[in-house]
Amino acid sequence: MGKVYLVGAGPGELELLTLKAYRLIKSADVVLYDRLVNPEILLLAKPECQLIYVGKEEGKHTLEQEKINELLLHYAHTKEVVVRLKGGDPFVFGRGGEEALFLAEHGVEVEVVPGISSATGVPAYAGIPITFRGLSSSFAVITGHEDPKKERTSIDWESLKGINTLVFLMAVSNRKEIARRLIEVGRDPKEPVAFIERGTTREQRVVITDLYELANYPPEVNPPAVMVVGWVVKLKKYLTQVINKGASKVVSCVL
Ligand code: SAH
Repeated sequence: MGKVYLVGAGPGELELLTLKAYRLIKSADVVLYDRLVNPEILLLAKPECQLIYVGKEEGKHTLEQEKINELLLHYAHTKEVVVRLKGGDPFVFGRGGEEALFLAEHGVEVEVVPGISSATGVPAYAGIPITFRGLSSSFAVITGHEDPKKERTSIDWESLKGINTLVFLMAVSNRKEIARRLIEVGRDPKEPVAFIERGTTREQRVVITDLYELANYPPEVNPPAVMVVGWVVKLKKYLTQVINKGASKVVSCVL
């Protein structure tokens, strides 16, 4: 009987992998990976390691998740080191919790290896500090793609009024509606909004708008993107960066 490691691959750039993730990928007998995992990371696996793609498009189906759970169980019984590799952090909207629970219920040993979540890592690379003294002392990470069946966890939009910075994941297709609801609960329509597409990669692109524009004339944005709502977005223009192999260097900060 093997062990399953639920490993966070970070937001994109290879070097944002943790040392622990690096070591485990190198020693894995099988890696089951998601859609947003950088293919360069998979090259770290040994030649005889089996690489299995189990990615799902947004708006995932339960059946697909059940299949993934069964696959994990199968490999836990047939291989030694099973790596379940997920984009960002495995416990941030990655259904890692469900997989861990399923495996634990079936008597499989599981270890979780946290990763840098796109929720914090992507804005940071794009030059947006999600907290900033005097500007933002709180942030929340929210799904922009809520399953309408999950009544108990439905978003309390009123409560989002009092949080300084809002970070939405999986929000591209609902971006207009999100802006509308935030204005409705009383957020300032002039509040800036940034979309960071393919953050930390060479293809990173940032689109900046405000809540009013977004609610009325939404700009084109392509997934995957992190959506940041808050005055901290204004800091970006003072934090100029050089985008070089997905890396960003802060060269000046004038407030
Ligand atoms: N567990 C992941 C999130 C999974 S949900 C994490 O911690 O990062 C998938 C969403 O994450 C995408 O829809 C997008 O909103 C965001 N995302 C992940 N990687 C991204 C990247 N490189 N650039 C922009 N958004 C990203």
